Amino acid sequence: MPDDGSKLRDVLALADAAARVDLAVPVAALDRLAQQLVSAEGVATGDISFSRLRGFVRAEVRLSAKLHVVCQRCMRPFALPVQCQSEVVLVDSEEVASGVADAFETALAPGGRLRLRDLVEEELLLALPTAPRHEDMGCTGSISDRAADQVDTETQLPFSNLGKLLGSSRLKK
Ligand SMILES: [Zn+2]
Repeated sequence: MPDDGSKLRDVLALADAAARVDLAVPVAALDRLAQQLVSAEGVATGDISFSRLRGFVRAEVRLSAKLHVVCQRCMRPFALPVQCQSEVVLVDSEEVASGVADAFETALAPGGRLRLRDLVEEELLLALPTAPRHEDMGCTGSISDRAADQVDTETQLPFSNLGKLLGSSRLKK
C-alpha cells in the first residue's frame, strides 16, 4: 500500500537499504501547493528511490498528479496533468547544500530526517507552471481574443450594410 508521506523518515537508513517508497499523497495535505490551486482535490502518486551518492543521500523522485488550476488564457479552471522526475540530494543543512555541485537540486533533511510529502510538495511546486494554460484541452481562447472577435463583427456590420445600400441603390438605377 502506498505511503501518504506524512511520517518523518530516516533518509540515511532508506538510502543504505536502497529503498523505494511508493507514495499517494492527497493534494489537500500539501498546504503551500493547495494555496496555488482552485481546488485541492486529487492525489499525487509516484515513488521516491533512495541511494547513496558520494556520501550524500540521493532521492530520485517521480510524481504525477492532476492539479486544478485556472487557465491564464481563457481564465477557466481545469485539471492540469503534471508529471515530474527529478534527482534531489538530501542535505543536513544549508552549508552542506552550498558544498554540493550546482548540477544537483538539494533539499533539506535536518538530522537526516524528512517528511516525504514535503519533498513531494516541493517538486510539484517546481513542476507547476507559473502561467498554466489549456494546451490541446479545449481552451476557449483569451478574453481579449473574444473581445477582438466582437469588435471584428461590429466593424464588419457597417460594410455589410454598405453593401446592401450599394446593392439597393444599384437596383434602383
Ligand atoms: Zn484555456
